[in-house]
Amino acid sequence: MPEGTGADVMGYDLMPWHAEMLLRLLATAIDKKNPHAILLAAPKGTGKIDSAGWLAAALLCTQGELSGPCGHCDACELYGAGSHGDLRWLEPEEGKRAIGIEPVREAARFLQQTAGYGERKLLVIAPAEAMTISAANALLKTLEEPPGDSVIVLVSDRPDDLPPTVRSRCQIFVMPCPSEEESVEWLRVRTEFADDDCRRAVKLALGRPKEALALLESGALNEWAALADQCASLLVGCQTPNSVAEALLAWELDPALTLVVRTVDEAVRTSVSENPRGILHALESRDTILEWLSAHRRGVNISRDLVVRECCQMLHKALV
Ligand SMILES: [Zn+2]
Repeated sequence: MPEGTGADVMGYDLMPWHAEMLLRLLATAIDKKNPHAILLAAPKGTGKIDSAGWLAAALLCTQGELSGPCGHCDACELYGAGSHGDLRWLEPEEGKRAIGIEPVREAARFLQQTAGYGERKLLVIAPAEAMTISAANALLKTLEEPPGDSVIVLVSDRPDDLPPTVRSRCQIFVMPCPSEEESVEWLRVRTEFADDDCRRAVKLALGRPKEALALLESGALNEWAALADQCASLLVGCQTPNSVAEALLAWELDPALTLVVRTVDEAVRTSVSENPRGILHALESRDTILEWLSAHRRGVNISRDLVVRECCQMLHKALV
């Protein structure tokens, strides 16, 4: 999604599992009883950005329909063209992971101006945890008292990584996650992939439909399934850490480490090990890997090669 005034076309899609919550929120906005600082929290890959786009379009639509954006008023057309002048959509710039202080300051000034098209101005920040500390601090005053009828929507898959000062100023909506069946159905309806592939992708993506879709679109479903099997075999000693590390290094660090963590989770959940000490050890390894993953996501420069190899060593010994 581009910044609000970008030239790209904006998409939105109300995910069925978010519908009840967001339709209720929209109804409060139509009654002018909506919160002005909203934090939408949901795990990665469950479609919250698409649903946030739907909410943004609905809040800007001038028809005030309870069912969502009408799709044909001027506001909806401007939104669709990515040029609605009452919207700012902040996300990290291309090639960067953080949202800095300047775009946030500019967005705060933007909210001060009178709405040009409809009733309200809208600022969406996604993902909100990408804001640097100084960017988040620059937003506090605006979050505390959004000017006029403006609405600020923060979207986050890691709300605990947001400063408490930001969280406490927002009304937090913890968005429901889809069931595995709902995710499969969503893929079936919206894509042309075979049913079996949709189901396999959803399982590999632990029920997260957007991750499953990315996996299907990458054409690497079989490769990823084989990699997941390799990680699982490493855990029970049927692979060498080096061979699995080589395979994992073909992928970005984030999905690779996420897969390693999931392998440990799955093993612990299904109690592959009868040994309680082994499970405890596995959970300790998992925590270490999660810390690396978190550091990487915060933009800390860590050696992909070293971390992946070390994780494979840990996975190899995890249940010992
Ligand atoms: Zn409309």
